[in-house]
This record gives sequence, C-alpha cells and structure tokens, in this order.
Amino acid sequence: MTGAVLTTHLARQHPEHTVVLASGGVNSTVLAYWLAARRSRLTLVSFGHGQLHRIALNRASVLAQALDCRHRVMDVTALLDPGAQSFRSQLEPVSSLPTQGAVPGGTPVPHEVMLDVAVSVAVAVRADAVASGVRVAHPSPTHPQGPLDKDDAWAGLRLLTPFAGLPAAAVVRLGTALGVPFADTWSCARAEPPHCGLCAPCVERRRAFHATGIVDLTTYQDTRPREAG
Ligand SMILES: [Zn+2]
Repeated sequence: MTGAVLTTHLARQHPEHTVVLASGGVNSTVLAYWLAARRSRLTLVSFGHGQLHRIALNRASVLAQALDCRHRVMDVTALLDPGAQSFRSQLEPVSSLPTQGAVPGGTPVPHEVMLDVAVSVAVAVRADAVASGVRVAHPSPTHPQGPLDKDDAWAGLRLLTPFAGLPAAAVVRLGTALGVPFADTWSCARAEPPHCGLCAPCVERRRAFHATGIVDLTTYQDTRPREAG
C-alpha cells in the first residue's frame, strides 16, 4: 500500500527543485533521499532556535553533504513566542539539561512557521516545490496539502507532504529500501548522544523500527521494553 501511495505521488508530483524541511530526523531524511532518487534538485532548510537542536542541525548538514545539495540554516528565534515553556526550555544551557530519564520532545517552531520560511527560501532559490516529511494528515490549518495559494507571487509553488497519513514504520521501510543511513539521523530531544530512548521522538523511533523488524542500530541510553511498545 505504501508503494502505491508513493507511486501516486510520484506520478502527480515530480518537482525539479525542491526545498526540503530538514530536521536531521528520520522522516525528513528519508524524504530527501526519496526526492533525490527522483532526481529532484534539493535545497535543505533547517531552523536554528537554541542549543538543543545543534546536533540535529549537524545531522542535517551531514545529509546535505551526502546528497551533495545546499543547506540553509535559518535563525527563527525572533519569530518564536519567548513566553512559551517549550521555547524557554530550548534556550537553557546544555549543561542544565537532565542527564537521566526522559526530556521533553518536540520543537518550539510551529510547522506553519517552518513552512512559511521554507516558502521564502523556495522563492529566493526559484524552487518549484516545498516538501515536508510531516506524517499528520493535515500539517497545518493554514497550509493544507496541495498548491500554496496565499499570494499570486507564489503561484505554482507546490507543497509536498508525501508521508502524510503514513505510519512511521512505513517511512522506515522506505528509507531502508533507499539505503538511508539511519545512523546519521537524530531524533532525540536531548542535545548530545546517545539517544535517550525515552522522549517522545525516541519512543516513536524505537516503535517504528520495532514494527518493521528492521534492526535498529541506534544507541539508546534507556531501552526499557515497555517504552518501545
Ligand atoms: Zn530521546
């Protein structure tokens, strides 16, 4: 089923130059490999917003080198709500983060903010599409899947979310078929290796590999079975 879904996307959506939201994680990395396999030229866009995600930025940079494409890191700190707890936690010194147990997951950057910035980059580099590896069916109420239609100047710029609605395991299977080096991806909310194994992104990562039966070579600090579902 996954293959059929992606084949449909391939037939309908084959951009020549795609701006890809690159978090350094599994979904966006598999997406970049998938698009590269379809010979789309890529520009990766990542978001700087505090110390916690420096390792994720590094992994996105590694991805750009692997796929020989440009990588732009956008500082979106000024666009965020400084009063939000998720934002404040991102700005805490790395040394103050807990070394044991779970840490909060997620990102303080709303997906629609990332998309808006990516659209700006796409206009600047004259790309014809923006791609996100988001797996929720509707990544943003203001940017439903389909052509962007906010302004005439953006006409023709497409938003691609080929993994929307797919389970995480399906993305892992696709990535395996594409030869994605999962060891180079980073999912954890922590700032330093190894993956904690307990935060929400780590649990999702573990569950995805567990569901596929594909060997997960990721090193986790905590691998309690009850968390791996
Ligand atoms: Zn973690």
